[in-house]
Amino acid sequence: MPPEVDGPAAAALAAGRMQRFAADLLGAAGALVEASGPETLDVLAPPPVQEALGVPELSRLGFGVRVASGAHRVGLEADWLERFARLLGGRGRAARCVLTPSFRPPADPERALAHALPLENATYRLLEAASAWTYLLFFEFRFTAIADEKREGLLRLALNSATGALIDDPPALEPVSPDPPPGPPLDPSRDLPAVEDRARLLALLSRALPPRLDAALAPFLEGLNRRLGRDQDRLHGFHNDLHREAARRLGALPEADPARRREEARIAAIVREYQARLEDLARQYALNVALAWTQTLEVVLPVHRLTVQLRRRKADRMLRLDWNPLTRRLDPPPCEWSRARAPPRLVCDEALHLLCPAGLAPCAACGRPFCRACHEAACPKCTAPVTAPPTLPLARAPALH
Ligand SMILES: [Zn+2]
Ligand SMILES: [Zn+2]
Repeated sequence: MPPEVDGPAAAALAAGRMQRFAADLLGAAGALVEASGPETLDVLAPPPVQEALGVPELSRLGFGVRVASGAHRVGLEADWLERFARLLGGRGRAARCVLTPSFRPPADPERALAHALPLENATYRLLEAASAWTYLLFFEFRFTAIADEKREGLLRLALNSATGALIDDPPALEPVSPDPPPGPPLDPSRDLPAVEDRARLLALLSRALPPRLDAALAPFLEGLNRRLGRDQDRLHGFHNDLHREAARRLGALPEADPARRREEARIAAIVREYQARLEDLARQYALNVALAWTQTLEVVLPVHRLTVQLRRRKADRMLRLDWNPLTRRLDPPPCEWSRARAPPRLVCDEALHLLCPAGLAPCAACGRPFCRACHEAACPKCTAPVTAPPTLPLARAPALH
């Protein structure tokens, strides 16, 4: 980790990173790149690079605060980021790799289980703990929220495809030491789970993303609602005063006075004006959210797998949880209905689904609790339709395999 810096030192650090990124990207795209000064690159660009970057065959790029005369100043402005994005094209959007980090499995798996599986209405028993492999799929999405202001950010999520566990804010991958892991040698060509089925994956993500997007946007929405409330109050106060004043004048006029008509018309106009201004406000603060799938990384990873027997009344079910060397904890199982962020705390009677409280809530019509994973469409007792959790359509995904 570089030390925390700010001011001119931070600008120099950012410029250095930008210069390294530009040199690597240009080199990979077939350009000849040479550093002709501490913050300057001389570039001999083939036609596709010239076209993507909008530079001639021979050009000089400057990355510092001051650049040499005749050099293009390259910084973190949208203009250059867009040019580099054109040059990047589809590269870097999907990748796969095998990681073999050195790790020691948890000393007390029972304790790790108690933390990852805080069940309220079922028990479990640890049957086995053994080395295994999984595919970990890392996803990165960029969200853009626009209302009266704009907010952009990244949403990162990983899926353990062997267990179905979702990992929120997974750690960024560091270069891994080439030392072999301790214990018997592991072979990723053996015992690997099936690569995630694409349709199933899209369905899972489209359900997993809305609660995570809500959480990511919560501070922005809070600010938006505060500003909207303040503007609504101001609008109400202003029109309320006008209305009260007009009503007072009207009340002071005798029944037969023709001036009453004028005051009544004025009151109606104030009400109309108030409604119109409220609608303007709603338009001004209307929220538009766009989500772009930017990256997918498939990582083949050794894990320590716990096999657990889940028990509820007379039924039981096998469950697998992986101790993940990247997060150094058990990947938490998600609610099998909502894919919510919080760990499931309840188990259903029929199939022993793991659920968040909403997944086993009483029916809104007849009051009988039922499992939304067993009965996706309707209540099994009174057939009242189920309100499905929100989903996000995900059409454009980077290639997975
Ligand atoms: Zn019902
Ligand atoms: Zn169920």
